[in-house]
Amino acid sequence: MDRLRPGGWIAGVDIGGTNLRVGMVPFEGGPPAAVVQAPTRPNGDPATVVTRIVAMIRELMAGVGGEGVIGVGIGAPGPLDRDSGVVLETPNLGWRNVPLRDMVASESGLPAVLDNDANCAAFAEWWIGAGRGADRVIGLTLGTGIGGGVVLGGEVYRGASDAAGEVGHMSVAFDGRPCACGSRGCVEAYASGPAIAARAAEGIARGAKSTLSSPVEADPSRITAEAVCEAAVAGDHYATHVLTETARILGVALANLINLFNPEVIVIGGGVAAAGESLFKPLRAEAERRAFRSATAVCRIVRADFPGTGGVIGAAGIFKRAVHGGVQAGVSASSASR
Ligand SMILES: [Zn+2]
Repeated sequence: MDRLRPGGWIAGVDIGGTNLRVGMVPFEGGPPAAVVQAPTRPNGDPATVVTRIVAMIRELMAGVGGEGVIGVGIGAPGPLDRDSGVVLETPNLGWRNVPLRDMVASESGLPAVLDNDANCAAFAEWWIGAGRGADRVIGLTLGTGIGGGVVLGGEVYRGASDAAGEVGHMSVAFDGRPCACGSRGCVEAYASGPAIAARAAEGIARGAKSTLSSPVEADPSRITAEAVCEAAVAGDHYATHVLTETARILGVALANLINLFNPEVIVIGGGVAAAGESLFKPLRAEAERRAFRSATAVCRIVRADFPGTGGVIGAAGIFKRAVHGGVQAGVSASSASR
């Protein structure tokens, strides 16, 4: 491995509801040298998952010569208690009060840090991704839910009780669609992958004509956000309507973020962001219509540089910040090797 440097490596771990990803991230910042992935389930109980993670870390350690790995950063879905390293609850894995940080540390023999997965993804984009060089970066991940993180002056903004940055649960509709969080009208209830699919299926059930109709008539659960995006890109009128409406709803949320934080960059990742300009163009237009001009004038709304590995990179970056301090944005010579 020619990229082994004096600073060594940090193992970044991203625990998703579907997949575990582990990568070796260079200490000074950069894309992972290697990433391994495994299903989180079946056998998603905490002890089994920890054993799997540690096996993945060891496999990667062998790849970098077994030396120079200084610790583990773990990104997990919240809510969690960073100070004690405990995952309080993960609805989609059914975990409760799992001392994940210490389990990984004792089984791997490496120091470990635990943080929220969406914070990790936002931190990665600030550190070496689409938000590098900016002092105020907001990251959104559009997936099964909508995760978010706010990075101000190189620090994740966490709020008074670690609950800040939940951009998916910004209300965009008074009395709107019910959300999994218990509230109504959250942007996640409209613009997450499953919410986009549900809105499209509902419109078709009400009689909208679309190339999406046939799978829906056969089985409405077969419609996916990806199918909506693909049909829109292929020119389907109704799918375009659904995607444009989704973009406008996201634009409302972004206008709120822009007026509150006046960021230089909003970085959007996750599967839905793959729709590209069909999503970003109407989204930017809606945000510009609604937010203060002096704020929109300085705000770039861009796709994430690391849609798949941001969680891994950011978890490693947060380990570095927590244990060694001094994470600086954009220092990586590595951006050239992306
Ligand atoms: Zn919500």
